[in-house]
This record gives sequence, structure tokens and C-alpha cells, in this order.
Amino acid sequence: MKSNWLGNVAFNPYQFILPKTEAEIQSLVKQAKREGRKIRVVGSGHSWTPACETDGYLLNLDHISGLLAIDSQNQTATVKAGTKLKHLNTLLWEKGYALINLGSIAEQSIAGATATATHGTGIGFGNLSSAITALKIIDGEGELREFSLETNPDIFSAFPVSIGCLGIITEFTIKIVRKFYLREERKPMLFEEALQNLPQLLTACDHFKLWWFPYSGMVQTYSVHRSSEEIQLKKKFNLLREDSKAAHAIFGFLLKLGNSRSFVPHINRFISAIQFKTETNTGRSYDIFTMVTPPRHHESEYAIPVEKAAECIVALKQLIEGQRHPVNFVAEIRFVKGDDLWLSPAYKRDVCYVGGYMAGEKGYANYLKAYETLMLSFGGRPHWGKEFSMERQHFEQDYPRWNDFKQLRKQMDSGGLFENEWLGKIFS
Ligand SMILES: Cc1cc2nc3c(=O)[nH]c(=O)nc-3n(C[C@H](O)[C@H](O)[C@H](O)COP(=O)(O)OP(=O)(O)OC[C@H]3O[C@@H](n4cnc5c(N)ncnc54)[C@H](O)[C@@H]3O)c2cc1C
Repeated sequence: MKSNWLGNVAFNPYQFILPKTEAEIQSLVKQAKREGRKIRVVGSGHSWTPACETDGYLLNLDHISGLLAIDSQNQTATVKAGTKLKHLNTLLWEKGYALINLGSIAEQSIAGATATATHGTGIGFGNLSSAITALKIIDGEGELREFSLETNPDIFSAFPVSIGCLGIITEFTIKIVRKFYLREERKPMLFEEALQNLPQLLTACDHFKLWWFPYSGMVQTYSVHRSSEEIQLKKKFNLLREDSKAAHAIFGFLLKLGNSRSFVPHINRFISAIQFKTETNTGRSYDIFTMVTPPRHHESEYAIPVEKAAECIVALKQLIEGQRHPVNFVAEIRFVKGDDLWLSPAYKRDVCYVGGYMAGEKGYANYLKAYETLMLSFGGRPHWGKEFSMERQHFEQDYPRWNDFKQLRKQMDSGGLFENEWLGKIFS
């Protein structure tokens, strides 16, 4: 693996290694320590941040993958850390189970996805990390340790979202549910109408999200309902639906025309008009939750308190259109239930995730700066896997367990073996 998904972070490690066993990882950790080198893990490389960067050993756990056991009484699955979510989805389904919720793709490894608090949408549903109940982790001394919510209730909540700082996770136990189906209703709506009705839209279904192309007066609403009854996969044939391969190809071509201030508003309105349609899709949970991988683009995403959602989205519209930022990508708005995980953007509060997405470089740095300033003014906390420049002081102020996490980090990794430059700036 030469770089992350976007290609904005190149991987140039001393050595790239695919271990096959926990024992192999343990001896690699001890070797790195002896040699005075750093060690990091990369999952699928789908983070925009330099979380996996290192000039030491870079490990990838693709060979430590698979479903180990299902506990039907407690409704949990024990899974090896390198397992890709897409594989886990089918492995669980074959046995009659499913993950509780998912984000918009399933290419990530379970370890990578949970390390950054990857989330889907649904105000009654937490992020993926919040489903973890136990894990095995190799610390900075090379010791294999086990932690669980049951046996370590005081510190367990530090581990599920730990961006690879506390050690190398090799195994998870995660809550699952009986397999279920989804009915997704897509409906275009006026921007103002959607925001006025946001509280009702949010609670009238299980998983609500909306998409908005800046400079367009319309949004696409997605209201998704869970069902335990089997509903066959029925995605309407629509060559131009926003998550089809054809639509992505057209969209990718339009993005190549550039993101000039004069083009973008027209292109965005055109795309909204042809893609945002009323339709119903049904099928297995993981087929409906996920979509085709989008064209390459930058992403930042902040979680703000849910009660500020409508005000914040209106302010984002004013910011983009008032300052004429050439935002040529959808702004995605999702909702996540609060949790107890120390470094989770949803720690102790229900949140609305507001996407700051854009393709190409022109104008992006300016937009990111303005977007982040706005998100911080609404009490935003950034997604760990997406671009941000929020500084240490903000984390110290906004995360009540920040110092506890730092303390635990010293215990798990006293020599700073799992650190890289980016993490150093954030934590030390
Ligand atoms: C096209 C696309 C769509 C996306 N959609 C969503 C979405 O819908 N919702 C959302 O929230 N996010 C989304 N993301 C972001 C993505 O889910 C996160 O960035 C996630 O962390 C990527 O998982 P990964 O396996 O690629 O991990 P990586 O990016 O490879 O690694 C992420 C972190 O996990 C650590 N890590 C990996 N394995 C281990 C291990 N075994 N032990 C300890 N630490 C480990 C790494 O060191 C790093 O700190 C998307 C990203 C892309 C590119």
C-alpha cells in the first residue's frame, strides 16, 4: 500500500509487514523497541488524516482476518481485527446476524473503522465503536492484553476509539443483531422545508440523512426504516441515481471541468436536478446502508450537538454561498447517538455530523479553514479519520476525558512506540 485512499498521505515506512499471528506482532513490537523504531498499523488506508504514517514499521492485518465466534445468547461476535467490514457483513449474514449500523462504505477494516469512530446515521444508533464490548491488544512492551466492558468498566471506554495510540488491536467482541432489512425512501425537498422539519424527519424513521449540493435550493432526504421481515433487494434502475457507477462517472467528469467559482453553482444545480428523485429501495441492511465508492475527494466532518443542527446547516449555506467557496461536492448531514467513549466526537451528546467535502485542490484550503472555524463555533469535534486542523488546546477543552486518555496512553505505551508526528502534535 503506497498511500491512503485519496493519495494525500504517502506511506514510506522502513518496512511494510503483513503479520499472520499475534505472536508475530508481539515479536515485531519487541524488535521495534530494541531498534528504537516506531510502529503503526494501517487498515484499508481509508483515512484522510496521516494517522497511519510512519518511518518505522507499518503493519497491515489483512492476514489476521475472519469471524471467530458468535455468542447468540449475548448477541455478540468475536472478530479478528483485520477483517474488512464487507467480509464481516456477509459472514454474519450467513449465520443470521448483522452489524447494528454501517457507514456509507464497507471497505474499511473493523479495527481501522472503529479506531476513528466511523459512523453511519440514525439518532437512535451509536457509531461502530460503541458496539465493542471487549478486545485484545498488544501494548508497547509487546504484551498481549485483554480488556472488556465487564472486567474493566473504569477504563474500557478509552479503547474502542484510540486511533492506534494504545497498542495494536488483534481481536474484537462486538454487539450484533439478528439480520434485518431496510426500506429506504428518498425524496427531494426544499432546503428550508427540510431544515424546518428536521426534528420530525429525524424521528419519523430509524436512519435519517440528507444531502445538499451548495448553491442548489433542494436537498435529498433519505428516510430509512428497519424491518425484521425479509424484503428483497429492489433498487430502482436509475442510471443517474447519485450512488450509481454511471452517475459517479458523469460526476467525476464534471469535477474535472474544474471547480471555478463560475462553474460550480451551475454544475451543482444540474446534478441535484438530475440525481435527486423520489424513489424507494429495499434490501439487506448492508446493501442499503452502503453505496458505490464515490470519486476521490477531500473530506472533513465535524460532529456538533444535534440541537444546533438546523442553525449550523443554515450558517454553512450562508458561509459557502456568501463567500463563494467553489464547493463542488455534496454536503452530507448525518445523525449519531451519544456514547461514553472518551475520544468519541459523540461523547455524552447526540450529534449531527456536518460534512465539509470537496474535490480538487483549488479553493479547498480556504474552504476547510472557513468550514472548521464555523464548526468550532458550534461546539464541533472532528472525525478522527477525516481532515482537520483543530489544535491540542481545543481537544483539551472539549474532551472531558482527554487527560485520562493521555495517562492511559503512558501506561500502555510508555516509550511512545505507537506515536507518529501527527499524533505527537495532537497529544504531547
Ligand atoms: C470513500 C470513503 C467513505 C467513507 N465513509 C465513511 C462513513 O460513511 N462514515 C465514517 O464515519 N467514516 C467514513 N470514512 C472514513 C473511514 O471510515 C475512516 O477513516 C476509517 O478509519 C478507515 O478505516 P481503515 O480500515 O481504512 O483504517 P485506516 O485509515 O487504515 O486506519 C485508521 C486508524 O486505525 C488504526 N488502526 C488500524 N488497524 C489497527 C489495529 N489493528 N490496531 C490499532 N489501530 C489500528 C490506524 O493506525 C489509524 O490510526 C470513509 C472513508 C472513505 C475513503
